[in-house]
Amino acid sequence: MDTALSFDPAAVRIPSGHFIDGELVMGAGETIAVARPSDASGIADLPIADAATVDRAVENAAEAQRASGWGTMAPRERARLMRRFADHIEANGVELGRLEALSSTRPITDAMAYDVPSTAEAFRFFAEYCDKLGGEVAATRHEHLGLVVSEPYGVVAAITPWNFPLSMVSWKAGAAMAAGNAVVVKPSEMTPFSTVRLAELAVEAGLPAGLFNVVQGDGRTTGDALCRHPRIGKISFTGSTATGAAIMAASAASGVKPLTLELGGKSPQLVFADIPDIDRTAGHVAGSILYNAGQVCVAGSRLIVEAGVHDALLANLVKRFEAVRPGVTWNAATGFAPIVSRRQMERIDDIVQRTLKAGATALTGGRPMAGQGDGAFYEPTILIGVTPDMPAAHEEIFGPVLTVQSFHGEAEGIALADHPDYGLCAGVHTADLGRAMRAMRAVQAGTVWINRYGRTADFVIPTGGFKRSGIGKDLGREAVIANLRHKSVLIEF
Ligand code: NAD
Repeated sequence: MDTALSFDPAAVRIPSGHFIDGELVMGAGETIAVARPSDASGIADLPIADAATVDRAVENAAEAQRASGWGTMAPRERARLMRRFADHIEANGVELGRLEALSSTRPITDAMAYDVPSTAEAFRFFAEYCDKLGGEVAATRHEHLGLVVSEPYGVVAAITPWNFPLSMVSWKAGAAMAAGNAVVVKPSEMTPFSTVRLAELAVEAGLPAGLFNVVQGDGRTTGDALCRHPRIGKISFTGSTATGAAIMAASAASGVKPLTLELGGKSPQLVFADIPDIDRTAGHVAGSILYNAGQVCVAGSRLIVEAGVHDALLANLVKRFEAVRPGVTWNAATGFAPIVSRRQMERIDDIVQRTLKAGATALTGGRPMAGQGDGAFYEPTILIGVTPDMPAAHEEIFGPVLTVQSFHGEAEGIALADHPDYGLCAGVHTADLGRAMRAMRAVQAGTVWINRYGRTADFVIPTGGFKRSGIGKDLGREAVIANLRHKSVLIEF
């Protein structure tokens, strides 16, 4: 642990405003009071962009994309500017990491180890595609030449959730910008500030003003106006399934805009009794639900464990769950994140209490955590005796709550792993390659991790869900392709 990372939250500059045409814009009118998840104390009042402010941001982005030649410049020049942006993010990493930690649920050690470097690296990763996706020559008859030409949409709307604010915007803005688009981002109203600083850094690094605009506000006012704006060519959204559905309806009503939707999950960790190293598997299972206190879309929230290893695995997990180090996000000793708000913590507790009432037992945890001042912390919780119809087994909790279901034999395990609605990710843990492949084929999920859980830091594998977990992919080559439209050309000679 690097104790030098601790910082004084009062010393952090808060860029509270919209960011349009390279400038911080303070709004007039209604505001939203934004508080620190760690101790509920106020950070700043956030302006709410009305339709006129959204219009200004989108029109400015469209003009910036056109006038700067962002979509038409030599692709390697676009890549060079994006790499310079990535370098500038790293050069300002301490300031950015502190802002992220202060105003979200990310402890400073995690913000510095993951959020800041991976945000910079995402822009570098996507920059590499600028001159690598040139379209296609189609297999036409001999006297024809058929081309598929890739073009940017113009302006992409990016709407992001409150978990991992920097990282989420880097995935969306990075892919959209590499494809030649401008972006207008609406971050979550609960964690809105680091996105503004990122937009400032883009301009400082030499990207055209207006290419990366930010509008602040709630979903119903600002998010909806952004989705419905006629100049938006594509919408890229990460958040809950219910909001994804509302955005789809807004898109349908305002010009059938294409969408990428990264939505909720209820992902299984399917563990067979033949795992060679219980401690290693327990590390993956615990990490997947305790990291960021379970406020992770891909959280492995349902442990489906074969009876033969049930007791040994749970004994190991309980030790890990009881060893977390909660605290304020600006203390480098903190290893366990707060919940984003008291309201969200009450929601977590409501699902847990309803599940206990339905007959489950808390092996550990099961309550809001005491002794953390006004911060919203929830006890790492393991619920046993859970059946698929219980609330904690089928509702997305977005907190540090693991449900446990036990099974006998491969077929039962695979059947329990599938969720009726969600299909974001799954973990499969076994020493038997054939069984791992059968489970991988059978489980309906957009990503399957075998004998590990979680993404690697290289962005190469696309991410996105099946069923109500979403449409389309972030990351990988697919994310850039999703930000391009394809024009078919047929030449006769
Ligand atoms: P949310 O759906 O409440 O909000 C997400 C964003 O949408 C916010 O910026 C919000 O202001 C905006 N919004 C709300 N209503 C809107 C509307 N009608 N029109 C336009 N924008 C609107 O989600 P949240 O609570 O911020 O985030 C948690 C959810 O995000 C969880 O369900 C989680 O699984 C999901 N998530 C998914 C992924 C993934 O990659 N699949 C990643 C992270 C989070």
